[in-house]
Amino acid sequence: MWAAIAISALAMTVIVAVRYLLSSGLFAYATSRVRPGLYDRLGPQIRSEIGWSLASAAIYGVPAGIVAWGWQARGWTLIYTDIAAYPPWYAPLSVLLCLLAHDCWFYWTHRLMHRPSWFRVAHAVHHASRPPTAWTAMSFHPIEALTGAVVIPALVFLIPIHVAMLGLVLAIMTVMGVTNHMGWEMFPRRLVHSRLGDWLITASHHERHHEEYQCNYGLYFRIWDRICGTDRGLSVKLDRRVAA
Ligand SMILES: [Zn+2]
Ligand SMILES: [Zn+2]
Repeated sequence: MWAAIAISALAMTVIVAVRYLLSSGLFAYATSRVRPGLYDRLGPQIRSEIGWSLASAAIYGVPAGIVAWGWQARGWTLIYTDIAAYPPWYAPLSVLLCLLAHDCWFYWTHRLMHRPSWFRVAHAVHHASRPPTAWTAMSFHPIEALTGAVVIPALVFLIPIHVAMLGLVLAIMTVMGVTNHMGWEMFPRRLVHSRLGDWLITASHHERHHEEYQCNYGLYFRIWDRICGTDRGLSVKLDRRVAA
């Protein structure tokens, strides 16, 4: 049993690491085409980001591997494979519930990590990326990585979710994690500056967190930032770059 758990944790670590290298690599390549020179002179920073991110992959891989083993071997979790088990409207709702729950957890743990004593220990690593790049996505101190690593493995015990919808949640998490840091806005201005854009977090919003620290703490949605008065709007610098 222990060998199977260890193999599952190791496999998940490799999957998370490869997912990071492919997704960040893809958007770093896109950046070199769309914004040539944006990462010039950031070589040492990027190497450090990749190092921290690969360490984070192991921290994400272990709880994910244990839960994946438990799902397969012991029937743990509320993950289901028969799409007909719930009404059709439930599949998108389960995705939204997972994103809202993750966003809430992220907002509050992130705010906590901005308290000075916590910041120095757990969160300074992430903010050492100035400016952030596509490689910053998983550049976390192990303590911060742990706060992120437990979320999805915990949520699958609370929210019934089809395995394909779980894949969708993980894909959204990965793509937004990378693109929110890559230093340019990939979504059209029409969306970013729309009613819907007022509630969604994209690069223009998270970049401002990296510029000013004490605002824009959210992950996917601006709900908590708006409720708590910590939303300062979009990054002016990044917006100017988009307009250019
Ligand atoms: Zn960030
Ligand atoms: Zn922060």
